[in-house]
Amino acid sequence: MPATLQTTSHARTQKLIVQKFGGSSMGTIERIQNVARRAVKTAAEGHQVVVVVSAMQGETDRLLKLASGVSTRPADREIDVLLATGEQVSIALLALAICELGYKARSFLGHQVEIRTDSTHGSARIRSIKADPVHECLRKGEIVVIAGFQGVDQHGNITTLGRGGSDLSAVAMAAALKADSCEIYSDVDGIYTTDPNVYNKARKIPRIGSEEMLELASLGAKVLQTRSVEFALKYNVTLHCRSSFSDGEGSWVVPEMSGLEDAEMKGLEGAVVTAVSCDKNTAKLTVVGIPDTPGAAARLFAPMADAGINIDVIIQNPPQEGRTDVTFTVPRNVADRAVQLLESLQPALGFHSFSVDKSLAKVSVVGAGMVSQPGVAQRTFAALGDAGISILLISTSEIKISCVVEDRFADLAVRVLHDKFELEKT
Ligand code: ADP
Ligand code: ASP
Ligand code: MG
Repeated sequence: MPATLQTTSHARTQKLIVQKFGGSSMGTIERIQNVARRAVKTAAEGHQVVVVVSAMQGETDRLLKLASGVSTRPADREIDVLLATGEQVSIALLALAICELGYKARSFLGHQVEIRTDSTHGSARIRSIKADPVHECLRKGEIVVIAGFQGVDQHGNITTLGRGGSDLSAVAMAAALKADSCEIYSDVDGIYTTDPNVYNKARKIPRIGSEEMLELASLGAKVLQTRSVEFALKYNVTLHCRSSFSDGEGSWVVPEMSGLEDAEMKGLEGAVVTAVSCDKNTAKLTVVGIPDTPGAAARLFAPMADAGINIDVIIQNPPQEGRTDVTFTVPRNVADRAVQLLESLQPALGFHSFSVDKSLAKVSVVGAGMVSQPGVAQRTFAALGDAGISILLISTSEIKISCVVEDRFADLAVRVLHDKFELEKT
């Protein structure tokens, strides 16, 4: 990620703390007042406070629905203009709520703190941040409130960073400001062995390495957005995931965890699997009867990549009579785009037919300890089989095993895997 972060070094006695509050913390006026009290409490302890916020809960989805009411194929640029309004409302309300508590606050949109991005609307990448306006306010004793999720490209267009992108805004701000800490607040008090809203036996993980967290996030644990973890790892930002509704210690995501520290956390030779995650945004496409000629896969997948469609698991059947079938998964929210693309590619690629299944989920067991331990795959498959859950596709890496299943079995699959690997035990 070629981000050049322009930073200003300055001597300070107090800490500079970046606090991020997502939609789950900003759902109502009362919740916004709660966020204001938290920011003020930190400022009252003598710290400089930068708050990054998301739109109020449900607002981004509401805006997307409005757009689909007026347009069948909305332009990405206009969608970004629309979605950025959600965070604009949040920063103004929060700044007002902080002022009401007798503190000084100033709100900023992405472009006003110069969060520069490339021009990939909907999933823009941060190129640079000019931290000076923020430092100036902090010097004046103001609490700075920044709109997450948005930036500006080199032509002055508003861009957005992808769903859940306020996490990334907060981590990038923390890196650019050389903040002492970056706190990510949500409706859960940390990172758990699986989504605590899916399984009440989930156990809080006090400390987790960024590499493992990156895998968990990319496999569906939305408590942190994947790119924010990637960024934290790259810029050495330690994250503290906490609850906005309680004061206790949360979970720490540390960029580098020594082998010994990692082993200590897991009981030396102990846990092989750290957590189970689930991605319900999964669809599967099967293309039947593709002529088995060199370059066939490239001709199928290159247009998908050009259309920005992320392909995940891919399986190709052994060819028969010069033709083969290919099955692959894509995020469910782009399945319709993939279908349109396949329709347009059919004449040129000469395949017989294709089918799509949008009611799937990908359930994964993740653990850095897996690499040296045989048998994890077998135990995973056995646990699912014993629960009567058919596995449709499998993909593995050194630190994860993912199984695609019907989405009606997703929560059950999470629970049986959590039990099988005894994740409720420390
Ligand atoms: P925000 O709106 O504040 O960004 P999110 O809804 O994006 O918050 O993230 C918090 C949610 O992440 C929790 O409500 C929880 O259901 C979900 N979650 C998924 N996996 C995990 C996990 N392993 N640990 C904690 N929370 C998880
Ligand atoms: N409001 C945006 C979303 O709903 C960004 C975020 O919540 O982080 O995806
Ligand atoms: Mg989030």
